[in-house]
Order: sequence, then structure tokens, then C-alpha cells
Amino acid sequence: MATDTPTEEAPVDWLAALLPDPTRRRQWLIETAGHLDRFVDGAPQRPVTPAVTAQALRHHLAAYDFADPRPASAVLADAVELMVKGTVHTNHPRYFGLFNPAPAYPGVLADFITATINPQLAVWSHAPAAVEIERHLIRFIGGLMGLPRETIAGHFTSGGAEANLTALLLATTRAFPAFAKDGARALPGAPRLYASADSHLAWLKIAHATGFGRSAVRLVSTDGSGRMDVAALAKVLAEDRAAGHAPLMVVGTAGTTGSGMIDPLTTLADLCERESLHFHVDAAWGGAAAFSDGLRPCLAGIERAGSVTMDAHKWLAVPMGAGLFLCNDNDGLYETFRVSTQYMPEGVAALDPYTHGMQWSRRGMGFKLFLTLALIGRAGYAALVETQTRQGDRLRRRLVETGWRVVNPTPLPVVCFNRPDGSDPAPVAQRIVESGAAWLSTTVFEGQPVLRACVISHRTRDEDIEELVKALS
Ligand SMILES: *Cc1c(COP(=O)(O)O)cnc(C)c1O
Repeated sequence: MATDTPTEEAPVDWLAALLPDPTRRRQWLIETAGHLDRFVDGAPQRPVTPAVTAQALRHHLAAYDFADPRPASAVLADAVELMVKGTVHTNHPRYFGLFNPAPAYPGVLADFITATINPQLAVWSHAPAAVEIERHLIRFIGGLMGLPRETIAGHFTSGGAEANLTALLLATTRAFPAFAKDGARALPGAPRLYASADSHLAWLKIAHATGFGRSAVRLVSTDGSGRMDVAALAKVLAEDRAAGHAPLMVVGTAGTTGSGMIDPLTTLADLCERESLHFHVDAAWGGAAAFSDGLRPCLAGIERAGSVTMDAHKWLAVPMGAGLFLCNDNDGLYETFRVSTQYMPEGVAALDPYTHGMQWSRRGMGFKLFLTLALIGRAGYAALVETQTRQGDRLRRRLVETGWRVVNPTPLPVVCFNRPDGSDPAPVAQRIVESGAAWLSTTVFEGQPVLRACVISHRTRDEDIEELVKALS
């Protein structure tokens, strides 16, 4: 590991390191920008997957005993290199991965700006601009989804999992006000929530954390095409009611993590209305389709949701983490998260984020979406999701042409496929990932082992789709 550099010999005094003078600050920025530019521009030439071992990383880190300060240039160079070598590159145009995007550069800049200004969003009075920016975005995105404009409420979250937890806490507090004081034991029966077997299994952790227990999550079977089977849902629900349980909430997933399938949202909304259940739509990735006039109809029914989860750090490509929780019940959020203390500044009851959400100290997570949206516009995001959707269609077509069977009928760009002879696809994924040429994964779709490739990088071009198809042959 490099510890000496020709550009700077001595470490900087601690106080001068915490706030360098403008000349040194600029020098550090320029050096860092140089390292990062080399990384960003060189990403397509690097293997997508790191070839590191835990042992090598720990050996490298052992040299950081933090006993003495180190010269900045050497540390910056080494730390960036360490991160670059030890990361799966979502910046690579052939990362056909989980919903982790190549980060939008305005979002990267926005994170830098946010970190520099460091607004504390717990209370409105500490960060009025940042709180209002997030409110503006929540209302904008909720509007795209067709939620009733007058009542759109919500906030940014660390990600989809926190947003889903927020949905369950809100739904339970609203259905059973005694839950606020006396917890799950105040419910008239064992709480139950319903999500499809292909939903995101953070629901299990959430049920655990709320004290409902993992058995509160009813994983309803799918219909043979990866969508929730509504008849099966009605049956489980009737059984639970007959057994004296307390059904609370139905989750429609709009873009399953495994296969990008969209549950029948309108039918679920009807059922929730009939049964007086909270309807939550988990659109962590797929919600971005609302930006496109052509794709928005796939989400029909989302406008009837009592709450929606969406992640800007997935299809909207801002750096992690930036989840959104949207709902139509600001008073319900307050009822769920209210608290007052001696030391918190006197709040604006309807606006303070710490009394309306799970987090207390709160980073300005929305600013990266704000800056990206301001720079590329709504039309830019529409073009992003439409381009990737077309690339997904292209991949589907090319796979079929080259003898693969595509199994998941989604309009969105997640493609699940296998060989018609049903041979195990896992070795194929392993070979490609180990070669570093591309990144894709395996999953199980309706009981069949499949390969999964998602177009998620704005750096992906049609040639990269061809490269993937070639690598698969
Ligand atoms: C990714 C995802 C989540 C979890 O979101 P995080 O941002 O990872 O916390 C929840 N639901 C779905 C459908 C997802 O794809």
C-alpha cells in the first residue's frame, strides 16, 4: 500500500484536516475528482465483478491502524482504489443486476452538496428548504402516480424496506388505534398482512420487528405467471377471518424483485375496499414507470393505494439511499410517529419529519432526486425508463432467437429465462460473472430455476445486450 507520495509528504494538522483552507480544499477535490473520473470512465474496461477475497481486504485494512494521521494524497488515492477494486460495478454498462443503477451524476453532485451544507431534517425549522424540497418531490411523484393531489403526504426513507415498515405501522395504527399505546396485544386477533409469495421478503423482518411475528405475513400463492392469485388471497383472508385473526393490509407488488411482475392492482384495490383493508403498493423499482405515458397504464390501480413505496435509488438512478413513502393520510402519520421532548425545537406539528416518520436525525435524501429531475426533467426520466424497457424487449427477442425460453410476461425490463430442456442455468451465470464480462443472477420463477437479467444501467447500449447474448451462447 502506498503511504508516501511525491505530492504531499506530511499529514495535515487535525484541525486543518477537518476544514482545510480553500487552496488545500480545492487540491483535495481535484485529486478526488481525478481518481473518480478515471474510475467512471474506465468502468467499461474493468471486470464487472471484483476479484477480491476477504483475506486480502482485511490484510489491506490492517495497515490502517489509525495510530497516526496520514498524508491526504496517499490516503485519497488508496481509499478510492480499495473501493473500486472491492465493488461490483453498477457503473458498468453490462451490470444486468438487481435494481442497483449506475448513479446519475447530478445525484452524485447533490450528495456532495447535501453533505457540505448538512441540513438536519428532523424538524422543519432546522432545514426549511430541504424539508420543503422533499415535500415538493413527494407531491410531484404522488401526482404522477395519480394519488389524490389534495391529500398526498409522505417522506423520504432510507429505502424500500423502511417505507414498507412505515406502511404497516400506519395501517395498524389507523385500523386499531389502541395499538399506539398497548401494542400488538391490543389487537382483536392475531394481525395478518397479505403479500404474494414473490413479494419482497423484507415483510418478514418487518413483521418480526413490529412484534406481530413472521407468521403474520401470509405469502399468497401466485397465478402461474408471478402475479398474486386473487382467488387464493380471498380464500386465505376468509380463513383468517373465520379463525378470528385480524387482517390489516394487502400488499400489491408493482414490479417484483425477482421477475418484474405486477400484481393485479385494480382487483386488489376492489378487494381492499370491500374488506376494509389498507391497500399498500410496493413499487420500489417499478413505480418509476409512472414517468412514462406509455408505461403508466401498467400501474393502473396504484392511484387507489392507501400508501406506496418507491425507491429513487433504483430505476430513477440516484445514488443510494433514497426511498419514498407516499400516502394520503398525514394525520395518520402523525398519530403513528408523534412524540414530544424537552429538547427538540418547538415544531410545526403538521410538518416536522421526526413526528411523521421512523427516522429522527434525517439526512436530506431528496436533494439528489431534486437536482437530477431539475437537470433532466420529467421527459428525461420518461426517456430513461422507455429506453431501458426497449432494451429489455430487445434482450427478450434475442434470447428467444438464440434458443432460450423467456418465462416472465412483464412489460418491464427484467428478463427471466432458461433452456427449454430445463437444464440448470446456475453454471451459466457463474461462468459469466466470473469472467467479468457481465453481471446477471439466478432466481426461481414459478418453481423453475431461471437466469435473471435486468436492464438497470443508463450506460447500457444495444451493443451491450448483444454482448450479453453472445456471452450466454
Ligand atoms: C428493493 C425492494 C425493496 C427493498 O427496498 P430497499 O431500498 O432495498 O430497502 C422492497 N420491495 C421491492 C419490490 C424491492 O424491489
